[in-house]
Amino acid sequence: MNVYLNGKILPVGEARVSVLDHGFLYGDGVYETMRVYGGVVFMLEEHLGRLERSASMIGLALPKSPDGIKNAVYETLEANGLKDAYLRVTVSRGEGAVGLDPDLCQVPTFFIYAGRLKPYPRRFHEEGIRLSIVNVRRNCKEALDPEIKSLNFLNNILAKIESKRAGADEALMLNREGFLAEGTVSNIFFVSGEGENALCTPSVSCGILKGITRDVVIGLAGRLDMKVEEGEFTPGDLYSAREVFITSTIMEVLPVSGIDGKKNFSVGGVTKLLMAEYRKEAASYVRDTKAAGPSIWGFSE
Ligand code: PMP
Repeated sequence: MNVYLNGKILPVGEARVSVLDHGFLYGDGVYETMRVYGGVVFMLEEHLGRLERSASMIGLALPKSPDGIKNAVYETLEANGLKDAYLRVTVSRGEGAVGLDPDLCQVPTFFIYAGRLKPYPRRFHEEGIRLSIVNVRRNCKEALDPEIKSLNFLNNILAKIESKRAGADEALMLNREGFLAEGTVSNIFFVSGEGENALCTPSVSCGILKGITRDVVIGLAGRLDMKVEEGEFTPGDLYSAREVFITSTIMEVLPVSGIDGKKNFSVGGVTKLLMAEYRKEAASYVRDTKAAGPSIWGFSE
């Protein structure tokens, strides 16, 4: 496997980052995870936009232009011969003397990793995943805004540890006020059990990462004339839901089969429809990107 590190493609075993890198010492940096379908990075512009926003929210200037990053991304995919892949772009503050001051670091570290996608157990798609609502609360926006996709993931890791102990596949965190926030690496949706079938999801103001898959799903639901409600929801709303699913770039749309053993769900019609529509959306994005020509799609057949 080959990786891209600071302008060079290297075998992964030869890629080295300093022990004084502030990404390693302090989690000081940002990243994006993307999914590659048929050689095309899905929603690349949106991911690069979020990378830029995350970087600017921590006062970090990206070491490359968006086009420079795109070229590096496709170079990395080509160096690995990968067409269906997991792709991660990481930018850390860089190497510097010990101390929190970002000015100790002159040059950001820029790293791209592309790997084969590990398939999830079939159960995840066919029956759904088990969620646990954990005690660990999502970082509050005033402390470390979840909209920053930073290298500092301890909040989510603590939630993950708790959900694993509870025998669940993913944790669901509440915000400080006790409203639903998000998973450790996913956003949450449910079909309201009350009245008409509204698709509900916590609003960004609840303190969540504004997931790119979340945005795609909200767009699809709108096109399908579903009523979408972004707002503040409680665990009680979730327990009385008809269907629950989570979204992420890597997981796409995955049904939820149960929450803390208190409530079980079967894979419902809205979830099945959105799972299928999401796949179609990705396929049409790949077709359109390829049709737009090699200036955007740099990967030769
Ligand atoms: N929330 C968190 C905390 C995440 O890490 C992720 C994964 N990036 C998501 C939500 C889902 O975001 P996306 O759909 O952009 O992958």
